[in-house]
Amino acid sequence: MTPVERILVKMIEASGPISVSTYMEACLGHPEHGYYMTRDPLGAAGDFTTAPEISQMFGEMIGLWTAMTWVAAGRHPWKVIELGPGRGTLMADILRTGRMIGFEPEVWFVETSPVLRAKQAEQVPQANWVNSFAEVPEGPALILANEFFDALPVQQYLWSPEGWRERRIGLIDGKLGWGLSGVLPIDHLGTWVEISRGANQIAGQIASRIGSHGGAALIIDYGYRSDDRPDGPTLQAVKAHKMVDALTTPGEADLTWLINFDALGSSMLGLGTYRSDQGAFLTRLGIGQRAAALAEARPDEADAIADALERLTSPDQMGTLFKVLAVTSTGQPVPPGFGQIADPESAVAGSATW
Ligand code: SAH
Repeated sequence: MTPVERILVKMIEASGPISVSTYMEACLGHPEHGYYMTRDPLGAAGDFTTAPEISQMFGEMIGLWTAMTWVAAGRHPWKVIELGPGRGTLMADILRTGRMIGFEPEVWFVETSPVLRAKQAEQVPQANWVNSFAEVPEGPALILANEFFDALPVQQYLWSPEGWRERRIGLIDGKLGWGLSGVLPIDHLGTWVEISRGANQIAGQIASRIGSHGGAALIIDYGYRSDDRPDGPTLQAVKAHKMVDALTTPGEADLTWLINFDALGSSMLGLGTYRSDQGAFLTRLGIGQRAAALAEARPDEADAIADALERLTSPDQMGTLFKVLAVTSTGQPVPPGFGQIADPESAVAGSATW
């Protein structure tokens, strides 16, 4: 039994089955035993890899987006805020790229894990750290989040023949097992619904900060559109780069769910919102050209660079599974990387514009 499991079993014995969000909160964020609090899960020796860890080209494209958005808005001294910065690799790549055009912002990291804070300090020693977005001092900011929202606790609801029920985790023969709550007083049609109070709250805070102080946000995550909704509940667990059962190793596997990007975008009321697949977005920003230049400069690494390009942009890898949402204050131009692909020749086949 894992330490988090022992805590959860006691909690369920004392007060009954728990919601999926309570489960995620304990597994990922328990101050002493939580998954993110006790380890760096990234990289080959860890449990999963993210786009910034695959190749510097990802951070360079995001750096280009960030610096160009800053230039378009008039080069004012905007902060850069990153939610859940992992090892700090994305920010290090952004700052290196931005510096070339004079973009040297104050950096704020929203991070709860002491282990990852230490890693971030190695790469971005000048950063400021806070535990929650609300603690970042006011003012216009460029806000970035890569694979952050999908780690926030989510609640899952099923439309059953009797009505809406919440997915719960209880004890079956002394072990953690899935179950359903009694019927909830909600009247609506559908199959599964997933609601994250944490994600909704942070999305609202991002929108109101941009609305009242200006700035822009870029949110990149594993997700889907409303017309391409997955059938079942999307909570998934990953350990050592493999999918594992979500209930067998609480606190020792990464837990994520899929973000509905249409819903996330429509929660940014009164702001400019732009959505794209990751592959099309990176392609419009010029990742193809960057890969060619890098391969020319480092011929020994040409194969690895081509592999990384493929992983980040191809529709059967991260290209369409990952989505991008940009949010700007009203009156700002269309941010870089959205809208028509200027050069269709360089577009990744199959990665749709939407
Ligand atoms: N953006 C990074 C890491 C993604 S993993 C990358 O792309 O490589 C998720 C990150 O979010 C980790 O840094 C984790 O510690 C952080 N995190 C998870 N839940 C959080 C919360 N509630 N508040 C702040 N940070 C959180």
